[in-house]
Amino acid sequence: MTPDIIKVAINKYCQEKHIEGLSLKTVMFDMDGVLFDSMPYHAQSWHRAMADFGLNLPVEEAFMHEGRTGAGTIGIVTRRQFNREATEEECKAIYQRKSQYFNEISETKRMPFAYETVKAVKECGIVPIVVTGSGQASLLGKLERNFPGLFKSEWMVCAKDVKLGKPNPEPYLMGMKKSGIAHEWETMVVENAPLGIEAGHKSGCFVVAVNTGPLPDEMLMKAGANLLFHSMKELSEWINYISNLSLKL
Ligand code: CA
Repeated sequence: MTPDIIKVAINKYCQEKHIEGLSLKTVMFDMDGVLFDSMPYHAQSWHRAMADFGLNLPVEEAFMHEGRTGAGTIGIVTRRQFNREATEEECKAIYQRKSQYFNEISETKRMPFAYETVKAVKECGIVPIVVTGSGQASLLGKLERNFPGLFKSEWMVCAKDVKLGKPNPEPYLMGMKKSGIAHEWETMVVENAPLGIEAGHKSGCFVVAVNTGPLPDEMLMKAGANLLFHSMKELSEWINYISNLSLKL
């Protein structure tokens, strides 16, 4: 990454929006694959749970569905393989199995340099919030243990707050609404997955992609990312620079 690449990306965004610059009040962080190194566990759990019900979802493909609601992913695979919609009972049973496998194999691993990145955002006077499709009951405790005092939990968006889920912009629009953000250039999205990036892009926000998984960079850029980093470590090295470019209005 270079300062010029960042400046060009922000200028391009601002020209499209007819504004002078970003004016960040919050940064909306996706959770799985950004704050926690949990995606390999999710992908494996999906693959195993689907197989139990006679469905084939390769582990690699699971990464492409990241961000979708559970019912959304199950619906796609059921239509493809059985040529019909999944019933509500099937959705519930498959999702339960997936959650069971996930809880068995996953350990909570913070993504390296996620803590440093979030802390730097907060120290710049910008409020970090979490926007996730996850509905894990232990979410708040897990965030507080790993990122003590950093996130504004009242403004968090999780599964219960949204109906449609990513790639619909609903979760990010909800994040803006909860935090009282009036304009999309007053916040920024940090995402790792194509559908999440698409959701962020459709919400109108500046989207920073962090490629922490196995998919090619182009897939993330094509989904609508304004800027791409290859790790949270790389983002942590530039987050102050980005925050300081933002206009203090
Ligand atoms: Ca993610």
